Amino acid sequence: MTGSLTIIGLGPGAAELLTQEARTCLEDASDIIGYGPYVDRVPERAGQRKHRTDNREELGRARHALDLAQSGARVAVVSSGDPGVFAMASAVFEAVEHGAAEWRHLDIRVVPGISAMFATAAAIGAPLGHDFCAISLSDNLKPWELVLARLEAAARADFVIALYNARSNARPDHLGEAFARLRSWRAPETPVIFATAISRPEQRIDIVALRDAEPARCDMRTLVMIGSSATRLIARQNGSPWVYTPRFARSPA
Ligand code: SAH
Repeated sequence: MTGSLTIIGLGPGAAELLTQEARTCLEDASDIIGYGPYVDRVPERAGQRKHRTDNREELGRARHALDLAQSGARVAVVSSGDPGVFAMASAVFEAVEHGAAEWRHLDIRVVPGISAMFATAAAIGAPLGHDFCAISLSDNLKPWELVLARLEAAARADFVIALYNARSNARPDHLGEAFARLRSWRAPETPVIFATAISRPEQRIDIVALRDAEPARCDMRTLVMIGSSATRLIARQNGSPWVYTPRFARSPA
């Protein structure tokens, strides 16, 4: 019997934001593999095995999943959000490229999910309506100098910037350094959005000006979004403002 491997995006948290395709693939799997808190999000099903691994063990987890699929299991590797955005899909393909020749013949599929930046954008309006980019602030898998260089290039290009992995306890100063760099390229009143635990009961969103952005507001469940020079706020009497980036853009000054 030939096994299969699906790499599934669980979305940002809320059950309604899990796609129907992801739901069907999760039900069909014999084995669920992933970082513990993500595996815990998958409802228990009799006969289905769950394998919880450490978050830093991506390549090892990918190889384990490929081995299981090779032995005939229907394996689901789970990621939060979209599995192709700073997540497991790349780790699986990296393992395939450098691993056993038989792995290339496996039935491998990627099932998309709603990434944190899209769930955040929808919760506040339409900040990603024009050109944007996503940068992971984590220096686990790349040097911090590269993070800063890309941040600066994105700021100069006037993209809206979505920052993933913007803060961890191991690197409490990095986000402050990132804000300091951005302040030399973006106006002090540029909107900065802190979106924590989007779509979950403990969801919290704060919209502040870049001059007031405090790194301490961010934790590991927070997506930080920085507006472009065109991003605008629409004030509302009740509730927080809408944030949007218009569909048109001017030539650079
Ligand atoms: N594949 C995921 C991202 C994994 S990196 C996706 O597409 O969303 C992990 C980072 O994603 C976190 O540090 C945080 O910045 C962001 N994130 C994930 N889920 C989130 C949520 N529900 N609310 C806010 N940010 C989230």
